[in-house]
Order: sequence, then structure tokens, then C-alpha cells
Amino acid sequence: MICWICESEASSYEHRLKKSDARMVFGAISEGNPIFSRNEYGKPITLNSDKAPRLLFQSPICKRCNTTLTQPNDTAWEKLSRFVFERFNSERSMQFLHLDEALEPHWRKKICNVQLYFAKLLGCRIQESGAPVDIAAIANSILHQRINQNLYLGFFQTSDYDRPYCNLSEVIVNSSADDHLIEAKIIYSVDRFHVQVVYTTEQIIDKSMFWLPSSVQRRVRLREM
Ligand SMILES: [Zn+2]
Repeated sequence: MICWICESEASSYEHRLKKSDARMVFGAISEGNPIFSRNEYGKPITLNSDKAPRLLFQSPICKRCNTTLTQPNDTAWEKLSRFVFERFNSERSMQFLHLDEALEPHWRKKICNVQLYFAKLLGCRIQESGAPVDIAAIANSILHQRINQNLYLGFFQTSDYDRPYCNLSEVIVNSSADDHLIEAKIIYSVDRFHVQVVYTTEQIIDKSMFWLPSSVQRRVRLREM
């Protein structure tokens, strides 16, 4: 198989849920501490290892893209995710997320890395689902480690605490009647923190909710989802 990012031979499988996120939310996943999820048909399934095939995308990428190339992207997201998770341990809700505090030092560079982490996740999800979305521009951004000006992020929260939760949604694709892409979207959740990732070349974005790393302010409002 071919890596959708760089087009070399692919043999490495990216995690749908970042291992560090799953571990932070659920603890180490094992036979004695399994997590419960649902398969693509909505049927309940049990996962008893963080290497369970269900936790990996079915479409491989190459080892270099999965490790060396995107490591700064992964690391930046890990840092932000941990910051928010720890904040939510002491606060029921957060009006604002201070990116400069969460991602210090050089928060602006790190939020670009966070976008590229979600570019990888969205691309893997689209590739795996076979959705009719051209991901060449997303691949190119990752390959050259340059932010994508059509990939918006929005941060949301749920104040109601139910149970430990970590999830990557299906990819939601909206197209016009003549098959022109309007938007492709995923939602990635770590406990009560939800990241909506929207890829669009149309002027449809509500800029009070979604932003690009190049224009985001140092604090973003965490809306209720
Ligand atoms: Zn590659």
C-alpha cells in the first residue's frame, strides 16, 4: 500500500485515538482494564489492549510520516490535551482556554503543529472511509509542515460529566448537488474536551467558533457542545 502523505511504501498504522489520550482517560488498557466502544455498525465491543487493531486506522502510512515527520505535531497535541484534561480535573467548565499558557513557550508555533496533527487524523479518516474528498492539499501541508489555510479547528466542552470518554467520530462529508465538496468534518473527543476539525474551501465557516492557527488569539472561548 502507498502512504497517502508522501506516496512511498506504507507499513505503519496511526492510532485513531492517541495512545497518550486513551491512557490519560482510561488508564492502561488491559485484559483487567478493558474499554468499551462501538464498531462501525454501532455494536458494542470490548478493547483490552492499546494495540487492539480497532484502535488503529485501517489505511497505513509510511513509518517516516508516522514518526519523524509528524512527531512535533503529535507532541504539541499531547501537551495541549494533557493541559486541558488536568484543568478539567479541577474545574467543572472553562470559559476560555489560554493557548499561550497551555503551549508555552512558542505557543503560536505549537498551535500550528496541533493543526497538522488533526490534518493527519482527518486525512487518515477520509482515506480509510473511502469518502470522495481530495486530500492532496492536506497531504502536502503535512509533508511540508506548513499550516493548511482551509483546515479550521474549533474547541468545545461538555460540562456534564458522564463517564470516561475518548472518541474519534466518523467523517461527515457535505457536498453540493454537483458533487463539489462543501466540507469534511471530524470530531475528536478526550473526555469533556472536543475538537471539531473542518476542511473547507468555501466561505461557510462561522469564525466565532472556528479558526486557523495563523489568526487565532492567545485565548479561545470553549463553547458548550
Ligand atoms: Zn509517508
